[in-house]
Amino acid sequence: MNMLKFYNTLFRKKEDFEPIRRGKVNLFVCGPTVYDFSHLGHARTYIVYDMLVRYLKYQQYKVFYLQNITDIDDKIIQRAKEKKTTWKEIARKFEKEYLKDMKALNIKSVTKYARATSHIKEVQNQVRRLLKKGYAYEIRGGIYYNIKKFKDYGKLSGRTIEQAEDAVSRIDQAENKRNRGDFCLWKFGEPYWKSSLGNGRPGWHIEDTAITEKYFGPQYDIHGGARDLIFPHHEAEIAQMEALSDKRPMVEYWIHAGFLTVNGQKMSKSLGNFITLKDFLKKYKPEVLRFIVFSSHYRSPLDYSEAIAQEAKTNLQKLKELLKKLEELKKGPKENGKEIVKNFEKSFFKVLEDDFNTPQAKGLIFDFLAETNKRISENKLSPQEAEEIYNFFKKINKIFGFLDFKRIKEKEILPKEIKELGKLREKARNQENWQQADEIRRKIEKLGYKIEDSKEGPKIRTMPR
Ligand code: AMP
Repeated sequence: MNMLKFYNTLFRKKEDFEPIRRGKVNLFVCGPTVYDFSHLGHARTYIVYDMLVRYLKYQQYKVFYLQNITDIDDKIIQRAKEKKTTWKEIARKFEKEYLKDMKALNIKSVTKYARATSHIKEVQNQVRRLLKKGYAYEIRGGIYYNIKKFKDYGKLSGRTIEQAEDAVSRIDQAENKRNRGDFCLWKFGEPYWKSSLGNGRPGWHIEDTAITEKYFGPQYDIHGGARDLIFPHHEAEIAQMEALSDKRPMVEYWIHAGFLTVNGQKMSKSLGNFITLKDFLKKYKPEVLRFIVFSSHYRSPLDYSEAIAQEAKTNLQKLKELLKKLEELKKGPKENGKEIVKNFEKSFFKVLEDDFNTPQAKGLIFDFLAETNKRISENKLSPQEAEEIYNFFKKINKIFGFLDFKRIKEKEILPKEIKELGKLREKARNQENWQQADEIRRKIEKLGYKIEDSKEGPKIRTMPR
């Protein structure tokens, strides 16, 4: 197990990663509010944590990846009103859609999805304890958290209480609160769960600590989510849990993902600049999106455009072509391996150890690809090396999942017309009619295929679209 470093939002610096219990990682990521289809911004965040969890597993950690599903919330209730249906109908429908999307992206790393409404007892229990400890108070609309009672309020986001007061979320706009930044823990009114607290439902922040306390206890290793959640959401989680347990820190490593943006602006429902994952997948393979996410650093903004998707597709095609060649080459007799592949593999994993630097890892892959292609064209790549490189890609694909090995193994089925043209070109070449051979090559290329002449004869492949 090598020492990994991650940037911790709580201390605003990179730190050595040492989980609370050796070899075991408890990780929680804020899941979706299920009232609409997921867009590419959501997908980026969930791919980032999927890759991170797979990477930790590769590093031999046992990971419990917990994610909540916010299935009761003002936005869900509002959408139900608009659609003249119930909150439950909306929540269950979009939860199903969300899970379908995750499956389509090959995200299987989540150990447990926990619905807010399956943890109402735990929520009520936390609210009761906060009231008892003097951190919460009741007013007409609900039970609220008093942020002035919690000395460390603002430590994650670096905000003062005054700055926090200016950013009060919609559901927390009760007139008679003690401080403007106080947030709702238990909201009275319809729809509600019966309770001695007063019939009501959870506020936005409390479900997460109720869920994590149940599965992890008061302290755990990693909390994730995109950076918009740092304030007020994650700040509120700290205030709730640390006040309840008197144990600090609630989370050892706060790892936040950057936004997916469009022309520099966060992709979001409210700005109307979103592309749903479903629409994206009508046009591109899920591997393309995974590759786009891999190509930028998880903490940086990722500015999405059609050009980025096309570039990812072209790059993947180059990798696929290399892998197809390696498939053939590795069939030859094996000898002792050279250090080249091993050294490359070492440097690849080294850059990941430093705050999961995937763009640098990508750079190394493409330098190595160019070098390998050159050695293949010079007949300098041994079957042993071909196999080692092929296996390297298989190994990293378990973490990143941007290659579809089934397709690499598939023999390409060429249309009859292309096969015929290939034969004609061979005939012209055998007759040393180079002009005609070139004309046919251009025709084949125009139809979207390319010819590579190799030792075993010409090979025709689809050109990257
Ligand atoms: P929500 O839509 O608020 O339920 O968000 C679910 C998750 O997706 C949260 O972790 C958000 O921070 C994240 N998210 C929403 N929009 C974006 C975006 N444009 N880029 C990256 N993550 C996002």
